[in-house]
Amino acid sequence: MLTVEAAQRLVLAASAPLKPVTHPLARALGLVLAEPVASDMDMPPYDKALVDGFAVRFDDLATGPRALEIAGEVAAGQSSDQLLNPGCAVRIMTGAPVPPGADTVVMVEHTSHRFFRHEPGGSEQSPQSARFNGLVSIDDHQLRLGQNIMRRGTELRGGQVVLEPGRRIRPPEVGLLASVGRNQVLAYPRPRVAILATGDEIVEIDDQPGPGQIRNSNGPTLAALTVRAGGEPEYLGISRDSRDELYRRVRMGLQADILVLSGGVSAGQFDLVPDVLQELGVREVFHRVNLRPGKPVWFGTTDHHQAQGAIRSDAPPGSSSKEPSAPSPAHRLVFGLPGNPVSVMVCFELFVRHCIERMMGVADPHPRLVRAALQEPKTYRSERPTYWPAWVEPAESGFRVRPVAWHGSPDLRATTDANAFVLFPAGEHQFQSGDSVQVLLVE
Ligand code: AMP
Ligand code: MG
Repeated sequence: MLTVEAAQRLVLAASAPLKPVTHPLARALGLVLAEPVASDMDMPPYDKALVDGFAVRFDDLATGPRALEIAGEVAAGQSSDQLLNPGCAVRIMTGAPVPPGADTVVMVEHTSHRFFRHEPGGSEQSPQSARFNGLVSIDDHQLRLGQNIMRRGTELRGGQVVLEPGRRIRPPEVGLLASVGRNQVLAYPRPRVAILATGDEIVEIDDQPGPGQIRNSNGPTLAALTVRAGGEPEYLGISRDSRDELYRRVRMGLQADILVLSGGVSAGQFDLVPDVLQELGVREVFHRVNLRPGKPVWFGTTDHHQAQGAIRSDAPPGSSSKEPSAPSPAHRLVFGLPGNPVSVMVCFELFVRHCIERMMGVADPHPRLVRAALQEPKTYRSERPTYWPAWVEPAESGFRVRPVAWHGSPDLRATTDANAFVLFPAGEHQFQSGDSVQVLLVE
């Protein structure tokens, strides 16, 4: 049977970045940049004061503290083109441009000053309006040339490429794009992910399940997983286990970039999904992967020419170790996930998430696997590698992990206690507390 890793490679080989489109900056968070972005200016664009205080000439103070004549004031947002003369200081605010001639800024905390008032009766005289603003005593004993000034172009230079294509846009990138004047950016779009639940026993949230019925939890879960992975979900409702209805709804779903179905891919009499997909020209790339939960997972593409060599796990012995040849990037990718809610989650994280990321322009999507120390002993046996819901958290060195109580693939409730999956290898194992295990991070 196909390994998870081989199946992941097949999914990635079939996925390609979507055509980039221009996005308003306000909608760009989380997208991947598809163009190089150059700065249209030096940053900072002028020598900038980093504190409130006085701009001075270092040479005036080289021999020790002294009083300087206050020659004026510059606030943030003002320009300062008047040369600072020797023996003078200018009161300056954080973010304001340092006047020519000044080369050092002294924090206001290291100064004391006194105004001379010329207008009789004037109580609060503005230094700006004054002909003579008084004196400031500088008593900074650790004065360094250039202190508290960020020189023009320290951060970046005009014309410099500040973001390369392929860069994920996080809040710092949003800020940088704004500061270089980019209100629009070329980025890969979020793939549209159509979500179709299947099953005669499934009813919508607002319906009261009758005998033998359950609510559609997979539809909303898949929509949430899609959003978390960066895609745009389109909910297509529930299809009965009928060929005609499946055919109609799947055809609608094939309008999206990715179609994800839940249910109907196992070996039961009403598991019609693989047949209907093939009827609609979706070529099977794989069906069944060696994992638990989620073994019956199905993946196919609408690319007819390249998806040759697809194998099923029921292929004759000897052929199952051979990987199908990788299909080239296709137009539509279809995932049939087994209906049990935890299978849906595990298969989504292992296969669909990477496909979404690839379409969004992530160069190398890969599972976030870390090693963590088991917090308690665990005896365990399974014929297949198993993704067990677990709670992982940072520890003094690395991570620690605690598998949660779990009753298997239908037990959705248990996953609300989990934020990860421990990957237990196939076979019989007696893990001790402190043993190192592999963990798939999903948050
Ligand atoms: P299937 O893969 O169709 O054989 O379904 C496997 C199990 O998952 C069955 O017990 C279904 O009732 C359950 N199941 C299927 N679809 C959903 C769904 N949309 N929401 C919740 N459970 C589901
Ligand atoms: Mg079913």
